Amino acid sequence: QITSSEQAIQLEDKHGAHNYHPLPVVLTKGDGVHVWDVEGKKYYDFLSAYSAVNQGHCHPKIVQALTDQAQKLTLTSRAFHNDILGPFEKYATEYFNFDKLLPMNTGAEAVETAIKIARKWAYEKKGVPEHKAQIIVCENNFHGRTTTIISFSNDEGARKNFGPYTPGFLKIAYDDTAALEKTLEENDNIAGFLVEPIQGEAGVYVPSEGYLKKAKELCEKHNVLFIADEVQTGIARTGKLLAVDHENVKPDILILGKAISGGVYPVSAVLADNEVMDVIQPGQHGSTFGGNPLAGAVATAALEVIRDENLAENAENMGNLFRELLNDYIIDSKIVKLVRGKGLLNAIVINDSEESSTAWDICMALKENGLLAKPTHGNIIRFAPPLVMNEEELKDCVDIIITTLKDFEK
Ligand code: PMP
Repeated sequence: QITSSEQAIQLEDKHGAHNYHPLPVVLTKGDGVHVWDVEGKKYYDFLSAYSAVNQGHCHPKIVQALTDQAQKLTLTSRAFHNDILGPFEKYATEYFNFDKLLPMNTGAEAVETAIKIARKWAYEKKGVPEHKAQIIVCENNFHGRTTTIISFSNDEGARKNFGPYTPGFLKIAYDDTAALEKTLEENDNIAGFLVEPIQGEAGVYVPSEGYLKKAKELCEKHNVLFIADEVQTGIARTGKLLAVDHENVKPDILILGKAISGGVYPVSAVLADNEVMDVIQPGQHGSTFGGNPLAGAVATAALEVIRDENLAENAENMGNLFRELLNDYIIDSKIVKLVRGKGLLNAIVINDSEESSTAWDICMALKENGLLAKPTHGNIIRFAPPLVMNEEELKDCVDIIITTLKDFEK
């Protein structure tokens, strides 16, 4: 039994691999936009487990779906059918407007799945020779941490000494349609263009207006699949159900994770129309837990909450208010350069170098003041609260953030 934060941190330090550098806070309870540490201190959660807890912590409807299903049937594997998967797939494909869904568990797995589908599509439908298919990716991407995905990462910390790396990826600048066009024109064997509609881990980089639309047009022109990784941006986070909806773009392959299950159970999914998805045949891809009844029940409930509670609209309104209030402060700020984002996926950029510890120091001070956020770089702090946040709570949070930042102005 854990009785203090210190004790829990010491245990992790001694017995756990050191593959993360968490803020020194030990959480034991969550409800809506709040979490509590083991000493009983209450915080606003301004990270939402990297945009997974969009529906708020322990949403009663999602938790109910979990506990009800847990008493009936949890896992069959795909050796047999279960009575939840089909209804979940019907609901989700209608919701996101695709023919078919392939269920997985984590974001990285879903990205790997999309890469496999795109390659097979290129070999079978486009006549690309075996072992020649290439996927175009962007500088400063984040798509997960498998050996293939880190092969095309820019993050040296994530990549170094984990080689040999997987071939088959061409990297171009983000938000650069000229670079995309050039690469598409100069290469014959392109299967797909894999892109985050907003780069989350890179520090919430919002591309220029029209970028996604133009990129999709170029992909169409060159018969290349437009693959949107909406693991972080999807499920109402940016003020629309999907971030590509801001530009009315329909991807050929859509990758979802995180908030598809409201953070209650790991679920991810790849969606595509028949022409693409039907390249996958029995035995070619799968996972013991992918498509299990617990996942299906939880994800269906989590998507219903997004719709029933108008969380996309709330994210848009609260996001606009958040940036407006912070911008008022930033005009005279020496410490904050700018705030950027869409909906409730935002970041502030600090007037300091990427290697500085300023963002970390500010997050430590925010923690003292009752708000939890995490830097993405030494000078960037991401702000991504649950989408159920109301106006009063949001204003309270902005007060905490500004009061904290003011201490750093001195
Ligand atoms: N894609 C994007 C855009 C992400 O932001 C993340 C996680 N931050 C992932 C993929 C990987 O998801 P997971 O951690 O569930 O593997």
